[in-house]
Amino acid sequence: NNYLATVDPEIAAAKTSELHRQRSQLELIASENFTSLAVMEAQGSVLTNKYAEGYPGARYYGGCEFVDIAERLAIERACQLFDCAYANVQPHSGAQANQEVFYALLNPGDTFLGMSLDSGGHLTHGSKVNLSGKWFEAVGYNVDPETGLIDYDQVAHLAREYHPKLIIAGASAYPRVIDFAWFRALADEIGAYFMVDMAHFAGLVAGRVFPSPLPYAHVVTTTTHKTLRGPRGGMILAQTDTLAKRLNSAVFPGNQGGPLMHVIAGKAVAFKEALQEDFKLYAQQIIKNAKTLGDVIQNEGISLVSGGTDCHLLLVDLRSLGISGKEASDTLEQAGITCNKNSIPFDPLPPMKTSGIRLGSPAMTTRGLKEQEFQLIGEMIVRVLKSLAEGNAAPVVTEVRQKVNRLCDQFPLYPELAA
Ligand code: PLP
Repeated sequence: NNYLATVDPEIAAAKTSELHRQRSQLELIASENFTSLAVMEAQGSVLTNKYAEGYPGARYYGGCEFVDIAERLAIERACQLFDCAYANVQPHSGAQANQEVFYALLNPGDTFLGMSLDSGGHLTHGSKVNLSGKWFEAVGYNVDPETGLIDYDQVAHLAREYHPKLIIAGASAYPRVIDFAWFRALADEIGAYFMVDMAHFAGLVAGRVFPSPLPYAHVVTTTTHKTLRGPRGGMILAQTDTLAKRLNSAVFPGNQGGPLMHVIAGKAVAFKEALQEDFKLYAQQIIKNAKTLGDVIQNEGISLVSGGTDCHLLLVDLRSLGISGKEASDTLEQAGITCNKNSIPFDPLPPMKTSGIRLGSPAMTTRGLKEQEFQLIGEMIVRVLKSLAEGNAAPVVTEVRQKVNRLCDQFPLYPELAA
């Protein structure tokens, strides 16, 4: 159909160009993925028209019988996928899910402990520029500067000194397994709640290749669009129903109005997909691919923070090359490889420059690439970075761009969609 092109050719053109961009670049942004056509069909549907404030069976609007089906399925499937008793699928985003947990468990001015942004934590875990850092007393823990691993001694020390009401684990740029049992024991010792933000690795938990935080955390938040490969959105989970009432009322009416029923339907579809056997293979392949990429980079003498990865992401430390994350990500983009500049722990450069780049394997794993191709991608990245360090990137960028084009042609994205 041509509805969009007829009504709004400018937006139609932007959408077509974006499809072309996604098809023609190697997408290595660790938080991105390619959701299925079924998810997108649910999202781009009449379900967007419906107001449904409240929860299934208890809405403030009439005519909710069909969106109730969608939300109930999303909840049931989320609970099945993560082996838990409670799910709220209404948070519009990961940031909102986190805010809603704060609203349920904290009062303004309360103290909580989270991983600092500099060490890989998320903005919503207490950064000064975020509501979480302005309205609460946020104390930040770091990674060990030598190992790049969470400094568990420091976490314990800060918890005993500041007595936070909530401790948060989970991050945006931490490539290693987190000891959830250890965090829970610490939280119990000081009488704090323990929350895990598994936004990044939720798909790996669902695919049974990464430890689940659910047995340990009082509450777990996540996005649905990263490794989990659903529509853009958030979710709150808990092993038991103990906090259900508080969490539900923190989402609605606490922090949101009408839920996005088209997105909730998309979440239900994505969870159904994640419950299939082949999702486990996808999750396994994500880790194999990330490890392959990390090995190639390290074997070429470029360091990774923490010396490697246990998951889908890598943090490349560019200091030995004398180039910034901004220069690296801009030049890689010219070569058709998309990633993001990222601070490394204790970064000497400011956040708009950074000494690192973050790379992730989920999107290209969805596209079908395996170790062999990730080996090639690693080699291309190293060539671009080294040529940039030597001041002669232009010919290498041209050559790599051609190889990227060939790889993209070999693994077509959304072939069912028109050009
Ligand atoms: N939590 C973590 C750990 C994240 O990495 C992110 C996004 O990057 C979020 C929360 C926020 O998610 P959203 O962008 O959906 O608000």
